Amino acid sequence: MKKLALHWKILIGMVIGVLVGLAAVIGEFGWLVTDWVKPFGTIFINLLKLIAVPLILVSLIDGISNLTDLSKLSRIGGKTIGFYVASTVLAITVGLLLVNSVDPGNFLPEQKREELKAIYAPELSDKVESASTVKDSGPLQIFVDIVPDNIFGAFSSNVNMLQVIFFAFMFGIAMVMTPQEKALPVKKFFDGANAVILRIVELAMRFAPIGVMALLAGLIVDIAGDDPASAIDLFAALGVYSITVVVGLAFMIFIFYPALLVSFTSIKYRNFFKGIFPAQMLAFSTSSSAATLPVTMDRVEKNLGVSEEVSSFVLPLGATINMDGTSIHQAVSAVFIAQAFGHDLTMLDQLTIVLTATLASIGAAAVPSAGIIMLVIVLGAIGIEPEGLALIIAVDRPLDMCRTIVNVTGDATVATLVASTEGELREGLDPDQLLHEEVLQEQARDEKYPID
Ligand code: ASP
Repeated sequence: MKKLALHWKILIGMVIGVLVGLAAVIGEFGWLVTDWVKPFGTIFINLLKLIAVPLILVSLIDGISNLTDLSKLSRIGGKTIGFYVASTVLAITVGLLLVNSVDPGNFLPEQKREELKAIYAPELSDKVESASTVKDSGPLQIFVDIVPDNIFGAFSSNVNMLQVIFFAFMFGIAMVMTPQEKALPVKKFFDGANAVILRIVELAMRFAPIGVMALLAGLIVDIAGDDPASAIDLFAALGVYSITVVVGLAFMIFIFYPALLVSFTSIKYRNFFKGIFPAQMLAFSTSSSAATLPVTMDRVEKNLGVSEEVSSFVLPLGATINMDGTSIHQAVSAVFIAQAFGHDLTMLDQLTIVLTATLASIGAAAVPSAGIIMLVIVLGAIGIEPEGLALIIAVDRPLDMCRTIVNVTGDATVATLVASTEGELREGLDPDQLLHEEVLQEQARDEKYPID
């Protein structure tokens, strides 16, 4: 029998969770869910939080140390990183503009927000207090806080994620500057460790259907109390939140990238989309830029005409550090959770979101659910309890599928731009002709290796 894909299992988990939660509220056995079901959700969240520090540390060190060629490719490298950072910051700004104008968290009635705050953010006032101490300490305090005075101190709390990122950057750059024979064993270690950690993420995600079911059931019981109708408020708010994320993602795909392509290259964006479509579909079904990378590279080289030299540098780097879809998601989610917890964000908080979401999207591994793990950093930086993830985790998988499409399309766009400005773009490729050639090649292959 064909195995069910993970995202279907998660969707089924969601539905079961909602039904269990509603049944518990209606049948007045909410305590049963709180004592015997909800803990599985907590275990799942703990698993995600547990992986956050090692995941960021290892994937960042591994990604940066791959940049050994940067000296050779310094010009291409500079342009690539420039485009990547600029598009990430723009994506976050779009996300912030959208979420601040739509206010999805405010679709929850005031009283519900107060309850949520009490349930999920018991330490919020401490955080707000320490955040205001930070503000009182002057504008440079944020940079002072990024540099840890003890690395184990930084590792010991998910709130210190920026310090971990800082350490990983220093470590990666120092590795590139260390003689090959000394750095190689360390590089191999981090390569291997990265593969192992990604496997742990995969294992944790196998538990996701049950985790999501438990989280949703627990959430409904906590929120609805004795009043099932009020759970509907939460779903309305989640619906508006999801639509806000999707509108931001659509903006990138249908307006921003085409505008960039039209301004910097002679490629027609219809041809661009025809070329990149299979990679987008793979991104959607795997939720992983890394898994999609081989197809992205193939399409970008063969169908968009980007030289191998450019694509083999720009795309793997992009899959690791350039995630515009993830950035939008981070911005919208952080503000949504803050709104749902009744936490008013200042201008400084919004700027902190721009900074931390940029770093979080750079640090996020190109695997399913990496974005939601990195959200812990953004939430921590604005003084919100990571338990806020419980609010959005149920709808994360479908949003992950959509944001990964944007992540991959952003990488392909930048590869095309860089190639075009370097004179490394074969122009005038006809997608229909290419399709025809592909079909002919497939036919030839089938004739050579017939199936029966
Ligand atoms: N799944 C995304 C990717 O691989 C990362 C994320 O979770 O946002 O690009």
